[in-house]
Amino acid sequence: FVHQLADESVPISELLVSPLRQEPRGALPLPPDVFGFQRANSSGLDLSVPAMREPLLAAYAGVQLPVVPEFDAKLVSGPIAISASCYKTWSAAPVAQRADVLRKAADALQAQLPRFCALLVKEAFKTWNDAISEVREAIDFLRYYAAQAERLMQPQMLPGLEGDTLLGITGETNELTLTGRGPWVCISPWNFPLAIFTGQVAAALATGNTVLAKPAEQTPGVALEAVKLLHAAGVPEGVLQLLHGPGETVGAALVAAPGVAGVVFTGSTQVAKIINRALAAKDGPIVPLIAETGGINAMLVDSTALPEQVCDAVMQSAFRSAGQRCSALRLLCVHEDIADHVIEMICGAACELVVGDPADLATDVGPVIDLEAYSGIQRHLTRLRSETRDVLVDYMKNRPLALTEQAPVAMNSMANLIGPQAFEVKHISDLKEEIFGPVLHIVRWGGDPLKVIEQINALGSSALPGGATPGYGLTLGIQTRIDSRAQQLAHAAHIGNVYINRNQIGAVVGVQPFGGEGLSGTGPKAGGPHYLLRFCAEKTVTINT
Ligand code: GLU
Repeated sequence: FVHQLADESVPISELLVSPLRQEPRGALPLPPDVFGFQRANSSGLDLSVPAMREPLLAAYAGVQLPVVPEFDAKLVSGPIAISASCYKTWSAAPVAQRADVLRKAADALQAQLPRFCALLVKEAFKTWNDAISEVREAIDFLRYYAAQAERLMQPQMLPGLEGDTLLGITGETNELTLTGRGPWVCISPWNFPLAIFTGQVAAALATGNTVLAKPAEQTPGVALEAVKLLHAAGVPEGVLQLLHGPGETVGAALVAAPGVAGVVFTGSTQVAKIINRALAAKDGPIVPLIAETGGINAMLVDSTALPEQVCDAVMQSAFRSAGQRCSALRLLCVHEDIADHVIEMICGAACELVVGDPADLATDVGPVIDLEAYSGIQRHLTRLRSETRDVLVDYMKNRPLALTEQAPVAMNSMANLIGPQAFEVKHISDLKEEIFGPVLHIVRWGGDPLKVIEQINALGSSALPGGATPGYGLTLGIQTRIDSRAQQLAHAAHIGNVYINRNQIGAVVGVQPFGGEGLSGTGPKAGGPHYLLRFCAEKTVTINT
């Protein structure tokens, strides 16, 4: 190790010798009731304990996916008129009343955690650990936005009073208030059908808006159950309406309809741009869009990094949730001095992952969401196999364990299993698009790490590195034990969420506000202190006293 440092001429005093850590947040003794569980990254449950797993398995045995009727896109004006009329009373209610309703929903979700986990496993093929994390994240969103709305939506006197003295120059009083804007369209993805759905809806509702929710076509059942839960907690039916159907018809009709006050969307950059263009083409007011889109996320590993820590972070970031997170690691950039060692560890660990039926407690990697996703990933794999080195397969030739030897599992017809995949590519720029599955690309680097960051910043952009057009900028992992380097690289990266010496998924609500820049979205960050502001209109009332 010291030898590697000598090569890089790093003063020993700059070493940040951090101990090897496993999942950091899972291990933290956090207060249990600040924003729910606050541990969205790790289920924190040991499923080998019967008392913990039995309620989940019982819920799975009993759960039925509801049939959700498709909405006729031609009829959107009806729900929009209802939404607009309900807005008057909902926005006029005290913020504390709306916050209480959301807290009630959080309590109900907590009480029904096993049932919602079972729905997520059944409809979205989540593993149990992912399902538990997701329900907890949804609870966190409800509690966090309730608390934030109460804090932000208090009227403020400006420039303020000091004792009885008005700190103005004219003797006027100036009051700044935040209100809702009107009906919001919330378009949510299938990869977090409960957490992102609930987060968008809770943010809009807390701030006094009404909601037309359009969940992903693949996961309407989870959305319907979440809506029922919110209605039961006290959200009036006209204030939150669910419109299930394809994005191309129902989503497009909602976005184009007059009377929509805002759109919040999580999905692809391409669809975010379509929505943006449709909003811009409308007559009437300028409609705000909050878009959280994809990423070609990299992890930069220098020669001082701890290989075990890198390996653990890569397993979590690239393969957990079958790689179906916007935040997931796609491109591992590993320093040439330690590349062989790190690649060998990664291959060994990847081969130990259990690929199979998500309902099985032992499963680490379940199927991807549907046949379309499966076929798209397979096309990419076929191309990669013809062009480059499949390190996982190479590795398994030497140690024929794991994937190929696992017992076949009984899957339903929707299941599309893809085991972890890892390929060596030559250049960072070889990765041109986001591959939404358990596929890791690995590239070796040498020389100046800042040059590597420059190329990472340009990923997805048609411009050359260093050019003015930014690429994706969602998550970045940095693995180094040189503290000053970590800071320098994090600073140089045009990336929304940078994670140093840990995995790069599972942002915690209220603690790690989540969202990217450039091609990765518009912000503000979900689960952060500025998110609700975009849902609000601001009003200043000046009184000449
Ligand atoms: N917030 C999630 C995470 O930090 C990712 C959300 C997404 O995939 O859209 O892993």
